[in-house]
Amino acid sequence: MQSKNWKRGIIMTVKSIPNRDQVPENLTWDLTPIFSDDQAFLAELDSVKEATKTINQLSGIMSNSADDLLNVVKKVLNLNRRYENVYVYSHLSNDVDTSNNDAQARMEQVEALGTKLSEATAWFDPEIINLGKTKIDNFISKQPKLSEYDRLFKMILKDEGHVLSVEAEKLLSGASNIFNAPEKIFSMMDSADFVFPEVKDDQGNLVRLSNGLYSLLLQSTNQNTRKEAFRKFYTVFNQFKHTLAATLSSEVAVNNYQAQTHHFNSAREQAMHENEIPESVFDTLVKTVNDNLPLLHRYVSLRKKILNLSEMHMYDMYVPLAKDPDVKYTFAESKKIMLQALQIMGPDYVKHVQEELDNRWIDVVENKGKRTGAYSSGVYDTNPYILLNWQDNLDNLYTLIHETGHSMHSFYSSHNQPYQYGNYSIFVAEIASTTNENILTDYLLANTNDSEMKKYILSQYLEGFKGTIFRQTQFAEFENWIHEQGRLGKSLTADVMSKKYKEINEKYYGDEIVSDPEIAIEWSRIPHFYYDFYVYQYATGFGAASTLAEKISSGNQNSIDAYLNYLKSGSSDTPINIMKRAGVDMTNSQYLEAAFAKFSQRMDELESLI
Ligand SMILES: [Zn+2]
Repeated sequence: MQSKNWKRGIIMTVKSIPNRDQVPENLTWDLTPIFSDDQAFLAELDSVKEATKTINQLSGIMSNSADDLLNVVKKVLNLNRRYENVYVYSHLSNDVDTSNNDAQARMEQVEALGTKLSEATAWFDPEIINLGKTKIDNFISKQPKLSEYDRLFKMILKDEGHVLSVEAEKLLSGASNIFNAPEKIFSMMDSADFVFPEVKDDQGNLVRLSNGLYSLLLQSTNQNTRKEAFRKFYTVFNQFKHTLAATLSSEVAVNNYQAQTHHFNSAREQAMHENEIPESVFDTLVKTVNDNLPLLHRYVSLRKKILNLSEMHMYDMYVPLAKDPDVKYTFAESKKIMLQALQIMGPDYVKHVQEELDNRWIDVVENKGKRTGAYSSGVYDTNPYILLNWQDNLDNLYTLIHETGHSMHSFYSSHNQPYQYGNYSIFVAEIASTTNENILTDYLLANTNDSEMKKYILSQYLEGFKGTIFRQTQFAEFENWIHEQGRLGKSLTADVMSKKYKEINEKYYGDEIVSDPEIAIEWSRIPHFYYDFYVYQYATGFGAASTLAEKISSGNQNSIDAYLNYLKSGSSDTPINIMKRAGVDMTNSQYLEAAFAKFSQRMDELESLI
């Protein structure tokens, strides 16, 4: 899962990192509830492999009778379920020590099995679609147990009319590597081939730019450092702008072609159809954010004032507005603070968080070979596990509560839904984690009198809001425009895209920003434009979380119950219906307006402290 990513200072203290076998057991996660040992895992892996070889035999019989349909559905789901356990065990074991060759080899075996399993069951969805709604309804009336799968059938049947003949689908899926080429080429250039120039860091040392270093240098308190990094960084993208335009426009062409061949009006319609989200959610987001751009303009002015700059440029948008509070947060203290902040969710929620902490569901500290970053991961039959690389600071406390939000969502869904509805869609996933972060922000602000601390928390909140709601919507707006442009057969050259990008950027940031020419080419370096209408969900999720946290923090029991009900819902209904029952109608602009009101209020608070 995506997690908080507030970058720390450039200089990191070098400390020795332990080997995996030196980490105290109580700081590691306990995977024995999944499989008691590697032996048990290997036995189940073999058994799933065997079952995968014969699952094909179930093809072609579901239309015979209601009992046959029930039997086939149960067996296919059950095999997937067993595979998931094998998968999660091998991937968690591998992530804590990627230098362990055995774990690596097991992981590769499991992944290969996953490919085989999906090939061996590729007939399942098309056969359901062929059966059709009338016949399925008829079977359900004869065999009531089938009604437990009613929504599963609906989710598959929604693709009726969008699936081509077996022959045609085979041709398209055979070309999937070719369709992925634009993203692959972009990512190769971006991560392997680009050679960036050298710039001076704050200490006057010459350092070679990279994507990572660029974002750190933009947080420098020295405007000259930021300016030089910004100018030199974009020289590389300018040099390759025609190639990068060809790559991006090819991505657009692929998405438009896929949509057209599958009988969708647009690439956006197809992408949103897959997640059962009406397109109005996207349009409402873009319109409401546009209506509230004066708030972003005000934020730009506030930045300019606090940073005491005579001119504000795009390279001044990432400097922290407040100093890091020099306070240590150990893991032990952070657990306590998290539990206190989450009291507002009620005793049941807190009880399960306590369970997470007491039963080693978290792998806490960094060790050699451990995967970086943080995530929450698990499947229907397992505990939700959290991977951390703990450091004693406030950002890590935020990471802990963020990932715990995901874990509680997984826990509640798997304990309240049958297997087929136990997971949840990406559209609702980040809402649970971000709501927790918002609750922590409310809690910390209410429980500190230290004005430096308050300034820091408020400015981090505002920065997160700007980076998520405004910036991701700006991306979504541009993404939509290039796809429309492509769909209408209009040109997508570097110059055309740069002109449009600059126009949108100027609209978003307003007159207070000096519009440097370099920013026009920013589109060429954004990986999100290769994600096929994905980014808008960051913005809608943040907006929904802001509104939900507000309702929860008010202590209203109905709101809290409605929220817990969302966590329990899994995928038992459409994401929109689930969020509606939680108290947020995402087809309406109100939830976003409420989030903007919060943004505005927190800007007032910060201004009054400065
Ligand atoms: Zn997340």
